[in-house]
Amino acid sequence: MPLDRFSRDIHYLRISLTDRCNLRCVYCMPEDMKFRPRAELVQDDELLTLVRLCTELGFHKFRLTGGEPTVRANVVELVHSLAQTPGVRSLSMTTNGLLLKKLARPLAEAGLQRVNVSIDTLDPVKFKRLTRWGDVQDVWEGIVESEAAGLLPIKLNAVIVRGYNEDDVVDLAALTLYHNWQMRFIEMMPFGDVADFQQSQVVRAQEMRDKIEAALGPLTPVEGGKLDGEARLYRLSDALGDVGFISSVTEPFCASCTRARLTADGKLRMCLLREYEMDLLTPLRAGASPDDLKALVLKAVYHKPWGHGLAHNVVPMNRVMSEIGG
Ligand code: SAM
Repeated sequence: MPLDRFSRDIHYLRISLTDRCNLRCVYCMPEDMKFRPRAELVQDDELLTLVRLCTELGFHKFRLTGGEPTVRANVVELVHSLAQTPGVRSLSMTTNGLLLKKLARPLAEAGLQRVNVSIDTLDPVKFKRLTRWGDVQDVWEGIVESEAAGLLPIKLNAVIVRGYNEDDVVDLAALTLYHNWQMRFIEMMPFGDVADFQQSQVVRAQEMRDKIEAALGPLTPVEGGKLDGEARLYRLSDALGDVGFISSVTEPFCASCTRARLTADGKLRMCLLREYEMDLLTPLRAGASPDDLKALVLKAVYHKPWGHGLAHNVVPMNRVMSEIGG
């Protein structure tokens, strides 16, 4: 099992299947985002090789993300192959849900276990303003289809942006009164060219909690306020589901981080908010042996940064969120 130099057990790999996306969310990337040529991205056989090496080192939890993972060609076949890989115990996906109406069942049949779906507001006009291109009805139908396909538990993600959707936390949290879903609110994080906007429009988790409680009553911590992954969970009275807060900016959870990220161009990134990366694709294409590649993974794990530097105004400039995968 790979340990970093702070004795954290790093066993969770989030894989960006593509840097492309069918939305242009204001908090994620510029509207005129330029994407890498496909030949520079990790191909299916290369991805399966890297995942196999990682499982042999002790990684067992995998999440597919992007860009938008469902726009990758052959995504169902790729999920099937990943699910069959020995050592892959957990396989989930973070998606904007636009294509789930069509893909939820085939993905579930291929071996995908769960989905997290991004939905920042239920209001169609605000949704279009935030995502620039999207129709919230498509996302809603994708969520319903994912639930029917057994991709459970359903977790929903909303990034809250001042001036766009800070009041929508109430309607979104109210979903948990009638659905056994986990509705998670994310503090916006700053990256690259979009950092100024992200830092000026960030909404703190405490403000979100206050708004929800003022409208819907007290939020009671679930299991004494323990972290579930990256989310701190609460429950409204008589609710079927939970409300979570991912407060990476104001209440970082770096001490319990178990993650590494593989970017779509084959770099192992050891902290979302730090620029340090280890290139795996170039050596793989140059013929590096499995042992050499494993040594690079272990070296990257060892050098995993302790945590982000937002408190000291250190912002990663080398990539925006869509290029890393969240
Ligand atoms: N396209 C997929 C989606 O929309 O879920 C997967 C990729 S997206 C980069 C992964 C997650 O990161 C989404 O929940 C998205 O809302 C979140 N995200 C994007 N930009 C962010 C930012 N600046 N701060 C915090 N979360 C962000």
